[in-house]
Amino acid sequence: MVRKIIALLLGTAVTLAAAGCGSRQNGAADGKVTISVSFNALYELSAAVGGDKVAISVIIPDGTEPHDFEPRARDLAMLKDADIFVVNGLGMEDWADDAVKAAGNTDIRVVDASSGVEAISIEEHEEVQTGVHEGENEAEHEHGAYDPHIWLSPLCAVTMAGNIRDALVHTDPANSAYYDANYKSFTDALETLHAQYAEKLKNADNKSFVTGHAAFAYLCRDFGLVQNSVEDVFAEGEPGAQQLAALVGYCRENHITTIFTEALVSAAVSETLAREVGASVKPIYTMASAENGKSYLDRMEENLSVIYESLK
Ligand SMILES: [Zn+2]
Repeated sequence: MVRKIIALLLGTAVTLAAAGCGSRQNGAADGKVTISVSFNALYELSAAVGGDKVAISVIIPDGTEPHDFEPRARDLAMLKDADIFVVNGLGMEDWADDAVKAAGNTDIRVVDASSGVEAISIEEHEEVQTGVHEGENEAEHEHGAYDPHIWLSPLCAVTMAGNIRDALVHTDPANSAYYDANYKSFTDALETLHAQYAEKLKNADNKSFVTGHAAFAYLCRDFGLVQNSVEDVFAEGEPGAQQLAALVGYCRENHITTIFTEALVSAAVSETLAREVGASVKPIYTMASAENGKSYLDRMEENLSVIYESLK
C-alpha cells in the first residue's frame, strides 16, 4: 500500500518536472509554437507576426459563413494540442468558451484579438444605416451587442497584431525579438497604407459605398466613409421588394456607381440593384475565408483601392 502511494507520488513528481521545463507544454514536434485560429483573417495576422516559428491551424473551414458557424468535434480536435488559440472576439466566436473546455487543454493561451479595440455597437449601426434591416434587433440577441468586423480595418488590425505578438512573446520568450520585428514591419505596412488612403479619401467626392453585408463599419470609421449593404451586419436579412426599393433610392441619392459583392454573400440581389441604378458590380474581400491565395495586406490594399475608385 505504502509502496503504491509512493509510486503514485513519484509519477506525479515526474509529470510536474516535465511540465516545468519551459512555459510550453504543447507545441509541434519541430519546436514551432502551435496556434489555432477561428478564421482566415486571424490566420493571416498570426502568420504575419509568427513567421516561420509558428504552425497555424484554422478552425472555420474556407467557404463557411463565419457568423453562422457551429463547430463539430473534428473542427476542434486541433485545440487539444495548441499553445495559443486566437479568436476575433466581440461575439464572433460564441462557441469558443465551450470549445476550450471540451478540449481539456489547460495550458492553452486564449487571445482575444479585439482587446483594446474601441468597439462599435449594433445600435450605432442602426443610426447610420437607412433602416432597411428590420431584423437587426433579433440578430443582436443571437450574436451580441457589437459589430465584430474589426479585422477589415487596418488600424484595428494593428491592435489585433499587437495582441497576437504579446501572446507569442509570453509563450515563446526566446524568440521575442523575432516576433517584435515581424510585428513592426507588418504594422508599419498597415500604417503606411492607412496614411496613404486617408490622404486620398479625404478629398473623395462621395463618401458612401454599398456592399453585400455590413462588414466595413471599422474601415469606414478609419477613413470617414459610410457603408450601406444588401444584408445586415451578420449577413442575414436579404431584402424584400420594399427594402430593395429603399436601397435603390439610397444609391441614386448618394451617386453610387459600384455595388460590391462578397464571396460568402449571394450576389443575386446586388446584381439586381446594380442593374436598377446603372452601377457596376465589383468583388470586395471580407477575409473570412482564403481568397485567391492573397495575403492580408494585398487584400486590404485592393479593398481600399476599389472603394477609392468607386467614390470618384
Ligand atoms: Zn461578416
